[in-house]
Amino acid sequence: MVHLHVFFFPMMAHGHMIPILDMAKLFSSRGVKATIITTPVHAPMFIQASLGNEIEIEVIKFPSLEAGFPEGCESLDQVLDLDDGHLQLSNFFKATIMLQESLEHLLEKFRPNCLVADMFFPWATDIAAKFDIPRLIFHGTSCFALCSSENMRSYKPFKNVYSDFEPFLIPDLPHQIKLIKTQVPEYDLDEIENDFTKFTDLIRESEKKSYGVIVNSFYDLEPDYVEYYRKNLGRKSWHIGPLLLCNRAAEEKAQRGKKPSIDKHDCLKWLNSKPPKSVIYLCFGSMCNISSSQLHEIAKGLEGSGQQFIWVIRKSEERTNQELLPEGFEERMKKKRGLIIRGWAPHMLILEHKAIGAFVTHCGWNSILEGISVGGVPMVTWPMFAEQFLNEKLVTEVLRIGVSVGAKKWSIVVSDDVKSEAIEKAIRDVMIGEEVVEMRNRAMALKEKARKAVEEEGGSSYYDLCALIQELSA
Ligand code: UDP
Repeated sequence: MVHLHVFFFPMMAHGHMIPILDMAKLFSSRGVKATIITTPVHAPMFIQASLGNEIEIEVIKFPSLEAGFPEGCESLDQVLDLDDGHLQLSNFFKATIMLQESLEHLLEKFRPNCLVADMFFPWATDIAAKFDIPRLIFHGTSCFALCSSENMRSYKPFKNVYSDFEPFLIPDLPHQIKLIKTQVPEYDLDEIENDFTKFTDLIRESEKKSYGVIVNSFYDLEPDYVEYYRKNLGRKSWHIGPLLLCNRAAEEKAQRGKKPSIDKHDCLKWLNSKPPKSVIYLCFGSMCNISSSQLHEIAKGLEGSGQQFIWVIRKSEERTNQELLPEGFEERMKKKRGLIIRGWAPHMLILEHKAIGAFVTHCGWNSILEGISVGGVPMVTWPMFAEQFLNEKLVTEVLRIGVSVGAKKWSIVVSDDVKSEAIEKAIRDVMIGEEVVEMRNRAMALKEKARKAVEEEGGSSYYDLCALIQELSA
């Protein structure tokens, strides 16, 4: 047996860096030497979080200027905040290709025993192979979404429908899951070939060539899909999540990804003053750009629902949109029942508070896992882009712990497709509706299963991580 040294290389996006940091902490807690590769802008966050965790950080230069971005623009959320951000995405992915050489130097210098690299770095498999190092892939999503997207790509069921709004079945899955064409990402529709569709092809190929896949999920959450992924799709996978449960100290929970924009004591004081399960929490992740008119609809829906709330508005949305919330909204809400956090919220601290009754989420996979394993609360699902429309189906139709707000259009920039009436209704449905008690019970049961999976020696995630470490050490 060797003393394992594993390199972790996350994509520069909070939805990828946060879980990979947790993964490195988890490996390190099992005696594995862990090194994270990142770029200068993100290094302080990793260095701060690695204190006391014996994780090494290796910093490589990101070619922002060479790729035509402003200096210091080194992450997907920063790109999306540029004026023409969504058009610049493929340039950003191209820029990441320039990181190959630095990765190669690091592998040559340190000769780790394994490389866990983000799916967005398909070229990492060949580089690892040069040094005879196994490369594991981290996708950062559910096993359900991995299986569903694979089958959509293989069978292209959307080709058989006559209109954008005619539902089609995703073939050969354990459940009858239907989508409409407007909910499918452009790059999966295959109607046009562009840089991005070519890039997703490379990702697919690299998955087949890699040693295996690490999934941030747990067996009992999606057992049919873990089996399907392994048996029907033939992937070698380890399901070792929810990774976030490795954060036990209050400080770790409050400071994930960025420094929160609200003092954690103020936030807790506000929550402590509310009765159990009386507050709905709205947060749309680290990247969504929501239009001013859509923010307006959310505000109206919230006010109409009569529920107490915490609403996180990302900084870039706030810059342009503050004045467009309904007149007097903030003043009225402040007095009575609403806390607006502008910027970054201490997500885990909020979700685990007993005052939280439900969560409105954009269906980013980390947010869903947090809603389940930290909150144990029902969700309003409001998918926007990436694989979020698939995650919504898992929550609402397979796990039955959520209600859809009715979003129909895959888009990186969210316009005003969802009206206040639908928002108001969905909020009521998860806070006071007839089905709430049952949804809550199911969500709480999953929360307990998540804890067992990672903490107990016989737990499935605990076991999978042991098996992976053993296999890599042998
Ligand atoms: N997050 C947070 N505070 C915020 C917004 C996001 O801590 O105000 C965290 C959230 O807990 C999650 C991650 O950022 O871990 C976002 O990942 P997710 O997959 O949910 O969505 P993405 O941002 O990738 O779309």
